[in-house]
Amino acid sequence: MSNQTTHKVTLIPGDGIGPEVTQAVVRILEATGVKFDWDRHAAGAEAFEIFGEYIPNALYESIEHNKVALKGPVTTPIGGGFKSINVTLRKRFDLFANFRPIKNLPGLETKWPGVDLIIVRENTEGEYVGLEHEVVPGVVESIKVITEKGSTRIAKFAFEYARKHGRKKIHSVHKANIMKLSDGLFLRCARKVSEGFPEVFYGEHIIDNTCMQLVMNPYQYDTLLLENLYGDIVSDLCAAFVGGLGLVPGANLGADCAIFEAVHGSAPDIAGKDIANPTALLQSAILMLRHLDEEAAADRVQKALEQVYSERKCLTRDVGGNCGTTQFADAVLAAMG
Ligand code: ATP
Repeated sequence: MSNQTTHKVTLIPGDGIGPEVTQAVVRILEATGVKFDWDRHAAGAEAFEIFGEYIPNALYESIEHNKVALKGPVTTPIGGGFKSINVTLRKRFDLFANFRPIKNLPGLETKWPGVDLIIVRENTEGEYVGLEHEVVPGVVESIKVITEKGSTRIAKFAFEYARKHGRKKIHSVHKANIMKLSDGLFLRCARKVSEGFPEVFYGEHIIDNTCMQLVMNPYQYDTLLLENLYGDIVSDLCAAFVGGLGLVPGANLGADCAIFEAVHGSAPDIAGKDIANPTALLQSAILMLRHLDEEAAADRVQKALEQVYSERKCLTRDVGGNCGTTQFADAVLAAMG
């Protein structure tokens, strides 16, 4: 795409470490020469204080109009309080595919070098439909919803991605021995879709075994296809292969809109200290650049990021360095030349 195009992008800095990592990433994106028209919006507790709404209408309208958003983490209260902003946005815009590549960066020593996994997580169904109620005091029901339509389209997404990018294997991860109907349906849909992609090996592993297998030997997998909750949990497990949550990017993709956000949460334990690693959001931004057809800019940022990691002179604390968020962004900017 021409550098003359201005991309209108909804920007949600979020809370916790969100504003810090977002600022770092925006500085780097601006230095690529790609033109952005950022439409900034608050969400969650911050938005409630200002507008009396957790997701103001203007934010919905902005995403509807721009079709692309870059989002920092927004804190979700535990065990009560308002509904997850992340989940609400994914549902509202039908962002059914959560795409999370797990790949080592050069120069960063981990127990498992050379990991290259793709996590494809169904993003709108399962336990995340938010249907919970107290039947009688002391008894709570939580409803998990799995549909043929939802399972088929996420399986298609995974197989089409594999075909386009030369990935060799897809494993559905499930608990259909216990959740016979729901996970059973998910598997049946994936199997059916797999028949149209004979060049991609298709396998099925039970979730608990998969966790053990991953920790024993992550190289046996290529692409993991998971329901919503399993995908959430296995994503954090897999983040450990490449250096932790500070590194892993994500994209929430639908037919119309896309929201790019890191796998990590708002990390309140390190918020406001300028020590968070902005790499996860930066790698999410690289995915966004590719989505916007800004391949050259994406390659340039990726190369600079890899150079900073290879040189090991300026790394953040979570990966064994002592640089702050801002210093790390400065180093990436310097590497971009
Ligand atoms: P959520 O449930 O909201 O997704 P989470 O359970 O994944 O959140 P996080 O907020 O991501 O939890 O934090 C988990 C741990 O990882 C914390 O110790 C946090 O400090 C660390 N962490 C998360 N993101 C980063 C980052 N960008 N840089 C450094 N450390 C991070």
